[in-house]
Amino acid sequence: MLPFARVTIIGIGLIGSSIARATRAAMPSVALTGYDADADVRATAERLDMFDDVASSSGAAVIDADLVILCVPVGAMEAAACDFAADLPADAVVSDVGSCKAEVVRALTAALPNATIVPAHPVAGTERSGPEAGFATLFHKRWCILTPPEGTDALAIERVAEFWRRLGAEIETMAPDHHDRVLAITSHLPHLIAYTIVGTASDMEEVTQSEVIKYSAGGFRDFTRIAASDPTMWRDVFLANREAVLDMLQRFSEDLSALQRAIRWGKGDELFDLFTKTRAVRRGIIEQGQDDPAPDFGRTHE
Ligand code: NAP
Repeated sequence: MLPFARVTIIGIGLIGSSIARATRAAMPSVALTGYDADADVRATAERLDMFDDVASSSGAAVIDADLVILCVPVGAMEAAACDFAADLPADAVVSDVGSCKAEVVRALTAALPNATIVPAHPVAGTERSGPEAGFATLFHKRWCILTPPEGTDALAIERVAEFWRRLGAEIETMAPDHHDRVLAITSHLPHLIAYTIVGTASDMEEVTQSEVIKYSAGGFRDFTRIAASDPTMWRDVFLANREAVLDMLQRFSEDLSALQRAIRWGKGDELFDLFTKTRAVRRGIIEQGQDDPAPDFGRTHE
């Protein structure tokens, strides 16, 4: 039996449109409704035929839903949920895909105090945004982390877990605060570093812009992919997960200072030991199927 028969997606960007496409592919009998605040996005979603219905208000979109998934930027969650609160059926389950969870749990609980809320974070994405960027296989073999607040109905949690399993994801459950610390180091800090290094390179005076671009295959271009990620989404993530990010940033700065000292004093063994340890992390990621084993991310060198 399907975990949900009528699914509504609020926010039809990369993630919302990928969920729509993946649901169509995996559970074609699900009635799918979409809504986005942006009329152009709604028109694109109609043209791409991703939904059975694209509603013109979020209230109309949720009115007969049994699952509503908020796929809007983290900072827009509360307003988006308030928008449809009066029309939400009493037995509907509400979920989201926000990249940080403690703040989203707070926002959704404030907006929908009587609703059953099962927050989720599919750890999958690209640097692109908008409804045309989505694709049905985005969640295949990727983790989806559920962070239900204490006391959440167990059946609702299992239904949301089963929904994501059918989209190809693997499920993990953790407390919102723990999620935010784990993602601060695995996702948020890497984005901050990429934004910094690309920003620093673009401010350089002695190395020209054309040199930065021309020799980017030396490593720089891999940071530019991450640094091309959506500015609204990432602004909201850093503001919402401030504490955990600042904590990880402090540790990172200390480790960077230690490396700086090792270079200054010519401590090659320290550098070699660290670089050997980090190589093993890459091997672990590949062994667990979380990236392509081909060298250089599988780029062709023709
Ligand atoms: P996106 O491509 O920018 O799409 C978000 C869409 O939501 C936009 O069309 C936006 O319209 C719309 N929107 C904003 N406020 C709204 C509101 N109040 N009501 C209805 N629609 C609204 O973003 P995304 O990459 O799909 O990210 C969506 C969520 O997924 C975020 O919470 C993000 O943290 C999370 N996430 C992202 C990734 C990733 O790699 N991208 C991965 C995992 C989770 P406007 O553009 O007009 O504002």
